[in-house]
Amino acid sequence: MTDEALPFETTLGPTGRPLPSIPEPEPVTSHGPARVVALCNQKGGVGKTTTTISLGAALVEYGRKVLLIDLDPQGSLSVGVGLDPNEIEVSTYDLLMAADVTWKDIVRPTGIEGMDVLPAVIDLAGAEIQLVSEVGREQVLKDKLADALPFYDVILIDCQPSLGLLTVNALTASDSVIVPLESEYFALRGVALLTDTIERVRKRLNPRLVVDGFLGTMFDGRTLHSREVMATLVQAWGETVFHTVIRRTVKFADATVAGEPITEFASDSAGADSYRQLAREVLARWRAA
Ligand code: ADP
Ligand code: MG
Repeated sequence: MTDEALPFETTLGPTGRPLPSIPEPEPVTSHGPARVVALCNQKGGVGKTTTTISLGAALVEYGRKVLLIDLDPQGSLSVGVGLDPNEIEVSTYDLLMAADVTWKDIVRPTGIEGMDVLPAVIDLAGAEIQLVSEVGREQVLKDKLADALPFYDVILIDCQPSLGLLTVNALTASDSVIVPLESEYFALRGVALLTDTIERVRKRLNPRLVVDGFLGTMFDGRTLHSREVMATLVQAWGETVFHTVIRRTVKFADATVAGEPITEFASDSAGADSYRQLAREVLARWRAA
């Protein structure tokens, strides 16, 4: 079945609900303190890293100062903003493991003015094990970020595909969570485990933690399947599901290879516009919160 065959095509958005008008964000006149947001899903390949980079760049277009944090030992975020892993000498591994290393020691500019990054390299895989014996092991990132909050409006943490100690550190340091999900049936399976983990962190470690929203990624508008998955998500999670969905396009892979956000690499593309819409939608939600 194709889009054309769907009777509600013109009135309802891709999530099966009427599309609300999403307001233009208010301009900012001063910066900070930052809202800290974890991009989290224990499944790999669902668009966490792509969303971290693209949403960050779109928020910069709306005048926000943004810090990206690579908390995945794969370092895809760092490569995706154009860094060469061989040239990264200090990274989030050092931030977490060495008491005297601060965020300022490891922060790097990206190609986007107004967007900085705390990069990761493969060493970070060891931090998960080494942190286990630390006192206050879940709070290390939160403590290290305290000094960075006044410098940024938004801090986005790209989590690794697991619910281990690094992800728990991200959730403990965050005000909220964005959950990217591939628009496929099997994508819904792990969500309960993820929301349980978020719930446990909220109860034991971080009472202010909320879920900003579930984001459908790799949406294929030509298939009924993608729409049905989004409808199932909306049934389960209601208004927590973002109205914005990100369509499947090869432009994202091309942007990664170029080391640029989609908003730079293909500024006029539908993918870039989707992330701009997501930026407006999250800013509206944060304002209402
Ligand atoms: P994660 O961080 O969850 O593992 P990534 O953001 O790295 O996921 O995305 C996995 C792969 O899918 C990457 O090659 C990326 O370029 C590609 N990708 C991400 N979003 C899309 C999309 N909307 N359409 C097509 N490919 C995408
Ligand atoms: Mg990733």
